[in-house]
Amino acid sequence: MRSFDTVRRVVVKIGTNVLSRGDEMDTDYIDDIGRQVHGLRSRGYEVVLVTSGAIGMGARELGLAEKVTNVQMRQACAAIGQPLLMHAYKQAFQAHGVTVAQVLLTSEVLNNRRSYLNLRNAIESLLSLAVVPIVNENDSVSTAEIGSSFGDNDRLSALVASKLDAELLIMLTDIEGLYDRDPRREDGARLISEVETITPEIERSAAGAGSAHATGGMRTKLKAARLAAAAGCRTVLVHGREQSVLERVITGETIGTVFGAQARMKNRLRWLRNSEPQGRIVVDDGALQAIRRRNSLLVSGIRGVEGVFPSGAVVMVNDAAKVVTNLDSAQLQAVAGKKSGEVRQILGVEYSGIVARPEDTVFLDA
Ligand code: GLU
Repeated sequence: MRSFDTVRRVVVKIGTNVLSRGDEMDTDYIDDIGRQVHGLRSRGYEVVLVTSGAIGMGARELGLAEKVTNVQMRQACAAIGQPLLMHAYKQAFQAHGVTVAQVLLTSEVLNNRRSYLNLRNAIESLLSLAVVPIVNENDSVSTAEIGSSFGDNDRLSALVASKLDAELLIMLTDIEGLYDRDPRREDGARLISEVETITPEIERSAAGAGSAHATGGMRTKLKAARLAAAAGCRTVLVHGREQSVLERVITGETIGTVFGAQARMKNRLRWLRNSEPQGRIVVDDGALQAIRRRNSLLVSGIRGVEGVFPSGAVVMVNDAAKVVTNLDSAQLQAVAGKKSGEVRQILGVEYSGIVARPEDTVFLDA
């Protein structure tokens, strides 16, 4: 069983092929994505979508059956298709009372620190407003010819995941995951459920090339997973048409291929898990359940404080989890069980009722 207990922010990438049925954009599928993303958010996850499909939708609108390769034509198709794509998403999410926002990117935006920070602020604001940002490349202005293209949305999704500090990238595609051989050409190919590190050998075994209107292939997906991994983000590559796929991935079902992450997140959690606790915070059941669902530990749920420790110390929560506490033991004693507003009155305006955030929390059974 996989565990995504430490995940808070998820980037979901949806490929052109998975969005289409025959020659048409499958709006029923987009509706179902609305339902599924709403489901993830109800479980407490922040979700950013990266979607392809603008060029494909534009091409269909113009009645073009063949893959569009001409640069100007791709730009035109993207400009035509992007609003159609957003319209489909808007309707799908509206059914669940969720507002969506369009974010169009060029690689220049991410490469320039000022514009990147600006973008990051905009996305953080959208997320704090409970809006789902829907990202695509700004294909009508960014082209490889002027060096501002991401190349494909696989890469774009990995960059978005890493720049936004997402802990999980879910790539919905039209293949079940990574196979040891190309399943479309060879019999007996086996699905690889878990890849800890993407080695050159694994990259070699992956078949390349996208099809129809999409640009990615398995190779670009592996590259994307490697990019995400370097930023501490795990990737799950999975067939987007699996029933309730997002929920099944997030609850740890063994579908698709999960790619491990390097360093950052893992190291921090390992450090936290291995640290000797300097005290103990006793919380009620509600608070324990809340932090299991990756919410912050709040003072309101505290029933007792054991030991003397400074702020920043690692302490136990009951016997279930370890956290890095924002407040020292005396402060915790003073505000245990109080509401957040009262905390400011007792400790001062710079204090909120947050004792530990999800990224500073690890469950010992996780
Ligand atoms: N940004 C392109 C589109 O929306 C898709 C690129 C890709 O498939 O990787 O049509």
